[in-house]
Amino acid sequence: MTSHVTALIHHAYQPPAGFEAPQPGVFKASTVIFPSVAAMRSREWKDKSAYTYGLHGTPTSYLLEERLCTLEGGLQCVLVPSGLAALALVALSVLKSGDEVLLPDNVYGPNKALVEGELMHWGITHQYYDPMDPQDLEAQISSRTKLVWLEAAGSVTLEFPDLPALLRICKQRKVLTALDNTWGAGLAFKPFDLVADESPALGVDISAHALTKYPSGGGDVLMGSVITRDPALHLRIKLTHMRLGLGVGMNDVEAILRSLPSMALRYRAHDEATRTLALWADTQPEFVQVLHPSLPGSPGHPHWKALCVNGMGGAAGMFSVMLDPRFSQAQTDAFCDALKLFKLGYSWGGPISLVVPYELAHMRTTWPRYLEKGTLVRFSIGLEGVQDLQADIAGALRVLR
Ligand SMILES: *Cc1c(COP(=O)(O)O)cnc(C)c1O
Repeated sequence: MTSHVTALIHHAYQPPAGFEAPQPGVFKASTVIFPSVAAMRSREWKDKSAYTYGLHGTPTSYLLEERLCTLEGGLQCVLVPSGLAALALVALSVLKSGDEVLLPDNVYGPNKALVEGELMHWGITHQYYDPMDPQDLEAQISSRTKLVWLEAAGSVTLEFPDLPALLRICKQRKVLTALDNTWGAGLAFKPFDLVADESPALGVDISAHALTKYPSGGGDVLMGSVITRDPALHLRIKLTHMRLGLGVGMNDVEAILRSLPSMALRYRAHDEATRTLALWADTQPEFVQVLHPSLPGSPGHPHWKALCVNGMGGAAGMFSVMLDPRFSQAQTDAFCDALKLFKLGYSWGGPISLVVPYELAHMRTTWPRYLEKGTLVRFSIGLEGVQDLQADIAGALRVLR
């Protein structure tokens, strides 16, 4: 007879099998228990045919990975603790000393910090290309170029590149492509089938996604995914993931599994409200330019329309405004401070509308030719009533009048 203390750990009771509910169970583990040494020796963790250690997944994370593959049109998925970790995992999986990575000049800022502050020290160099000029990308590809990052739309300036044109150049030059797909979220366009009527279909090699944004939808979870279609490429990423130990917490995975079914509805709602506000903002004299891919005057609008099937795919929930250069940075800051519903904070994709003033001159190698001069403010539209949000911006504009 074992003592009752031991029985608390090795209990004989097994709940009946067959429990089903809308939300899948949360299986948490570092240790996974094997029935025999033979099983321990033979179990394979790389192909998700079994379980070996929490770092390599549990039923909970396998479920999310498969659902994200369906969302984005990929075949394999690796989860990591943040969107930025997804970008880093891609870089560390496919680049080695002596290689070069190309990034669009409007790339998500921390990706620049990664290449400038970390990869440089590993002997991996980088260059920035003009996302709106495919010839500039072509000119910068050399025999050392091993990875090209793509992003649509740009994080802060929301210009929409000609993704098929950029991709064709990379394919011709046999360079791997990775898309930061956080904005499109698998809903606006299909990253692995960008031009589906071509054979083979034109698509990216890797899609990295900050699940922190729309898949979470709550502003309360950090997570990222790296999705591929090529098993060999996936294995490289999976091995690097294993060696770096980039595991995720299953309670966080569960939170994303819970939000995922409503994501398309939320995305549509963010999209509609954002278009309404961007159109209205375009009529305000303090804003010399409004950046949103659905606006005909916004850089790359035709590319967005073509890729997102006449706009039906959506355009996410952000727009930026360029305040007239006659306003100082201090006045721009006062405008942001005067907003009440829009909170000051980074990230996006949650229910609360957010605003961030950016100092664009420090973020780009050159001031883009298609942007008016001024100070830039980015709005990310939550799920509040659109009239309330418009009134909030209108009220804050009074500090400039
Ligand atoms: C937020 C974001 C990331 C990083 O996601 P985190 O989970 O915050 O690290 C990467 N790319 C884009 C475009 C993002 O907006």
